[in-house]
Amino acid sequence: MTDSFSNLSLAEPLARAVAEMGYESMTPIQAQAIPVVLTGKDVMGAAQTGTGKTAAFSLPLLQRLLKHENASTSPARHPVRALVLLPTRELADQVAQQVKLYAKYTNLRSAVVFGGMDMKPQTLELKRGVEVLVATPGRLLDHIEAKNAVLNQVEYVVLDEADRMLDIGFLPDLQRILSYLPKQRTTLLFSATFSPEIKRLAGSYLQDPVTIEVARPNETASTVEQHFYSVNDDDKRRALKQIVRQRGLSQAFVFVNSKLGCARLARTLEREGMKTTALHGDKSQDERLKALAAFKAGEVDLLVATDVAARGLDIKDVPAVFNFDVPFNAEDYVHRIGRTGRAGQSGLAVTFVSGSDARLIGDVEKLLKKKIELEAIEYEEDKPRGRINDGRRAWREAGELGDPRDVLDAQRDRPPAPARPQREYRAPAAPRDPFFDQPYEAPATDAPPAWESVAKPANRISANIKPKRRVAALFKAE
Ligand code: AMP
Repeated sequence: MTDSFSNLSLAEPLARAVAEMGYESMTPIQAQAIPVVLTGKDVMGAAQTGTGKTAAFSLPLLQRLLKHENASTSPARHPVRALVLLPTRELADQVAQQVKLYAKYTNLRSAVVFGGMDMKPQTLELKRGVEVLVATPGRLLDHIEAKNAVLNQVEYVVLDEADRMLDIGFLPDLQRILSYLPKQRTTLLFSATFSPEIKRLAGSYLQDPVTIEVARPNETASTVEQHFYSVNDDDKRRALKQIVRQRGLSQAFVFVNSKLGCARLARTLEREGMKTTALHGDKSQDERLKALAAFKAGEVDLLVATDVAARGLDIKDVPAVFNFDVPFNAEDYVHRIGRTGRAGQSGLAVTFVSGSDARLIGDVEKLLKKKIELEAIEYEEDKPRGRINDGRRAWREAGELGDPRDVLDAQRDRPPAPARPQREYRAPAAPRDPFFDQPYEAPATDAPPAWESVAKPANRISANIKPKRRVAALFKAE
């Protein structure tokens, strides 16, 4: 089947923008979703970031909005017609930039609003009038409350990365936002998975949706070499360093289950001489941008991340992914290891399984539909061991070490529902960074691996560990 964009009869300004992007053919989600969205039907799409889903919804939306296109300077002639909601500022920024590119030859205006930035420039843009508004839920509500955004002429709403929005605790905000929209509208929901919560959300807000599924969530790239090692909690760092060394890995993602565990691990690895940085929800926007830029530039070898923080970031083809913790949600296993082995490249995915992980590994087995064989690690008589032990002693003295710490950290991250859900960020204003648009490329550097060089100062731990709402509890509260 040839999935050429020319089959779509896109309006000339949109077709020109697509041609300029250099897209040769549609991706599977585009081939399936664009014709449906062009008919105005609701869509429930299972697709992850990286599949081309932004164009899959924005091109047909823009095409349908062209009937409202006008060159008037009056804000009243540019009401919000399409609303795109995303869980994080990085995703919102990425999507907004793509929408701008697709709409560049039209008179349709677009804008993005997300938290952690000054409200004023966003307010000015909103007051000028925009047809397509890309937003994170918390900040959008702030603008609605300040009467900067009026949504009574919205015809299309896109709930993108809906599963993540629920994970983060945005359900009440979403419900409020959706209550401001006209009942007569098209709603598109995209989610990596169709969990029962997502189905319930779709049941409440979508009308007779067409279901579109590409890249089923239990598919992992065949180019990824997957290993599951049986490792005690105390030996995980040692195992990690040994595999990195033995495999000669230049860079890797290391996934952990909790923000606190993430900060601690990054700090300890850094102390032990690995060039490491942490990416988690309590990092400010500025810190996240710096962490990512440093990783992309090859200044950092290990990026320790939580699932929520790493989700949606356009970092591909990392040579290896480590699951330092088995993910709580089996589908996150697929998301995590999808960072490596992309585009035909070979990749390595290593998962450390400790004694208490039996149930979680069972979930991964069910999802992958295959039996997982645990391998043992033979530890080298490694020189840095003394240093690790010194580090452990320091931790013990500081009262920080305990085997179940990561799980406990994660539990601490999930207290009962607070009065207000977690807003996406609270960091000071930071400039947008175009590197979110660029695919990750391994840095061209001959520098020796960091663990062979001198240790750097440890990373700071954030003082603001924000609580998380339980999604199920929220539904019950309705
Ligand atoms: P998304 O999944 O929407 O975040 O898109 C991931 C990347 O794929 C973006 O950098 C897009 O510019 C790119 N992309 C989207 N559609 C196509 C296409 N048909 N052909 C090639 N690249 C595409």
